[in-house]
Amino acid sequence: MPPSPEDPVCVHGVQEEYFYMMVHPCACGGAWRGDSQEVEERGGRVRHRVAARCSACKAAREFHFEMDARYAREGPIRQVNPTGDPSAAIDLAEWMDLARFYLGRIEHLTRPVEKAQSLLDARHCLEEALKFYAPGDEGPPPSALWSDASRAKAARQAEVFRRSTLRKMLDRIPPMERLQQADSLDQKAFDRQVRDLARREARRAWWQFWKIGRKPQD
Ligand SMILES: [Zn+2]
Repeated sequence: MPPSPEDPVCVHGVQEEYFYMMVHPCACGGAWRGDSQEVEERGGRVRHRVAARCSACKAAREFHFEMDARYAREGPIRQVNPTGDPSAAIDLAEWMDLARFYLGRIEHLTRPVEKAQSLLDARHCLEEALKFYAPGDEGPPPSALWSDASRAKAARQAEVFRRSTLRKMLDRIPPMERLQQADSLDQKAFDRQVRDLARREARRAWWQFWKIGRKPQD
């Protein structure tokens, strides 16, 4: 279910707050930057009030988030949602947009640690997208798309939104533990692995899943 505008947005951790702010940019299109944050804990729930400022037009906005106090404690690096439940803050099409953003920027990054972080974020976003599909679903269930914009995106890119496409993408990205390791320790080995992957798929930019099923003139 989409969050109601008056209620705090329920998230599974701080990383999901960050993603939420990314998919809800300022009206001018600018990205939000968190200025300050208030934290309040009551009855096993943690509330975050984030004062944000647009990096382009300097408009101010407050975001209110709420999460289980267990998720507010530090988990594994860049963990998004440790449960099997789909997000209540970000819908399927928004997770796909985020995955596309993180995969698309990899070729422009030069430092292995940044590539690893971007792949890790992409992997998290695709895993979150996959949580919306029930065992029998091949296409996206209607309950996973919360706005006309999201429904239009899924309809326009039916091939991309197939569960089997998501699975294939996840198979290509190094596993989470590997990426988390690379995020902290093993930069050289990780860089090698990214290069090997690129070489193996040299004829095609394998990460550009959003081009699947698209006609050549697009
Ligand atoms: Zn703005």
